[in-house]
Amino acid sequence: MIRGGRLVDPALGRDEVADVLIQDGRVAAIGRLSPLAGARSVDASGLVVAPGLIDVHVHLREPGFEEKETIASGTAAAAAGGFTTLFCMPNTRPTLDSVLALRDLTARLERDARVRVEPIAAITVGRAGERLVDFPALAEAGAVGFSDDGDTTRDSSLMRRALEASATLDRPIMVHCEDKALADGAMHEGAVSGRLGVIGIPAEAEEIVIARDLLLAGLTGGRLHVCHVTTARGADQIRRAKAEGVRVTAEAMPHHLLMTDEWVGGSRRLVNADEPRGADAPAEDPHTKVNPPLRPETDAAALLAAVRDGTIDVVATDHAPHAPQDKEHASFDRAAVGLSGLEFALPLMLALVRAGHLTLPDLLALMSQRPAELWGLDSGTLGVGAVADLIAFDPEERWVVARERLATKSANTPLLGMTMQGRVKLTLVGGEERYAG
Ligand SMILES: [Zn+2]
Repeated sequence: MIRGGRLVDPALGRDEVADVLIQDGRVAAIGRLSPLAGARSVDASGLVVAPGLIDVHVHLREPGFEEKETIASGTAAAAAGGFTTLFCMPNTRPTLDSVLALRDLTARLERDARVRVEPIAAITVGRAGERLVDFPALAEAGAVGFSDDGDTTRDSSLMRRALEASATLDRPIMVHCEDKALADGAMHEGAVSGRLGVIGIPAEAEEIVIARDLLLAGLTGGRLHVCHVTTARGADQIRRAKAEGVRVTAEAMPHHLLMTDEWVGGSRRLVNADEPRGADAPAEDPHTKVNPPLRPETDAAALLAAVRDGTIDVVATDHAPHAPQDKEHASFDRAAVGLSGLEFALPLMLALVRAGHLTLPDLLALMSQRPAELWGLDSGTLGVGAVADLIAFDPEERWVVARERLATKSANTPLLGMTMQGRVKLTLVGGEERYAG
């Protein structure tokens, strides 16, 4: 029995103080309940109680890159961040491109995962962009989507056929949109890159591929999911395609909504939120290097507008752990790309709530309800009978981001040393405690 919390569940239209009774891994009752003899009781007064968060874009790194993250450490970070389900990306070694590789992953997940993990298989064998995977076999074996994330499928005829396959399987093709010929840089190409003398990546490198993939989704009737949208024009293309009836969904990341390319120059100001800034940092911190790159404030504002008007369906993390030798011990130009995200997503998004851009139900729709609906998951709500994937968090508690307090193996984040507001206190998966803070 989770007692006295503020239950926020957008699928139920509820935002009120209520108790939640869990039996046999499912929600048995909600409301003002009388104490039940023999039931374990958790006092959640002062906390928000909500459906567990669902992250559709995570790199767990195992198998093949266990020095960066493992299934055990990545899913522990997920539980600590309030995520009860995550989708893992296929750029492991070996690539998740065959039923055999998927079976191996499933066995590892059964052994080590602390939260639910749904696999995303590759679009092409080895993510090499030459030969399509066996979509029906991989879908049958449990893949919830297909992505060559980290790379764009350059061959448009292959992308057309992948989208045709998605139309019949109803599993999305999840695209990383980047014209590599234009993307030979280390940050966003603009005023800050010019000032720092760092080679930049123009916004057009992303927008060109979004445009192509939207056109191919329209042509095929396939189901397209655009990963990590970052630019005003990219969001606008998706908005117009949706209006035309193209089957497209899209995601944005907290770091692109709240951080800008000024962070590469040393700023630590969260945009779109009226929050005290962190102290400025040295320029070209490898922990600000991410792909797609942090964009200017105008793009972050347009991205937030796209989140608010439903153009962007879900918020995910693109949790991309790296070992220290890949990041802080490397120069900015040579450092690996990607940020650690699972333990910061909720506090970052809560800054948008405090600033009045989103309500708490909006946040939970973006991070739990809608991903569950889009992928047909048996979670994302705490209605009676639903699986008890539940979190309780204190939206006010402040904490300082310190390497030793993180569950992930990889503290590759420019938020190190900064104060976050909002902390997960309890994470249940199927009614079982997977994190208590
Ligand atoms: Zn990507």
